[in-house]
Amino acid sequence: MAKELILVIEDERAIADTTVYALEREGFDTHWSATGADGLLQLENKSPTMIILDIGLPDTNGLDLCRQIRQDSQIPIIFLSARNEELDRILGLELGGDDYITKPFSPRELVARVRSVLRRHHTSAMYAANHAEDTSEVHTVGPFEDDAEQMRIRYKGESLDLSRYEYRLLSLLLSRPNKVFSREEILERAWEEPEMTTDRTVDAHIKSIRKKLKEVDAESDPIRTVRGVGYAMETSIF
Ligand code: CA
Repeated sequence: MAKELILVIEDERAIADTTVYALEREGFDTHWSATGADGLLQLENKSPTMIILDIGLPDTNGLDLCRQIRQDSQIPIIFLSARNEELDRILGLELGGDDYITKPFSPRELVARVRSVLRRHHTSAMYAANHAEDTSEVHTVGPFEDDAEQMRIRYKGESLDLSRYEYRLLSLLLSRPNKVFSREEILERAWEEPEMTTDRTVDAHIKSIRKKLKEVDAESDPIRTVRGVGYAMETSIF
């Protein structure tokens, strides 16, 4: 089986070296690009399976580059940033980044994040494939069964009594298990008039969904809160 190729877009040689070394030791192939322009070129030429993307690049900014890449690719992206700024983190995830690492980081942390993002990506790709073949319109994710035709979700065999937006929100989280959805993304994708609502609306609906899940199983809480960002359906809890 061919090794997975990871494209590292980072202008600082020392950091690129550490990253490349850590990844290759774990059995990945890598390619290093020191500029955004070269990164885009290599993305086309080498078809990597993942990108590690520095936010501060000499010719562009990692966030802008991510926006550009997302126009036609869903390749997993992990941001590297020199600053532990919440704004960068939120923007990074909103622009479609899959994870975010603050410098300085240990090679072990980097490898763990890479593996986790790849695993997540493979799971959702598999989910999408199953989903495409599923003509009954019932999508099963762990203990959840989402019946899109009836707009009903069963949890551990019990049908949940959800409002329209609760259904849409839960169904959205289930559409990409483990992906972190920001509040803005949730509003945009699950609400009909997102401009009429606020972030608090999402929190209130999550609270109510959690309560309904607890009525079925008081012990488990499969919705993960990502502070300052949003929510995810955490499959490791199932
Ligand atoms: Ca940099």
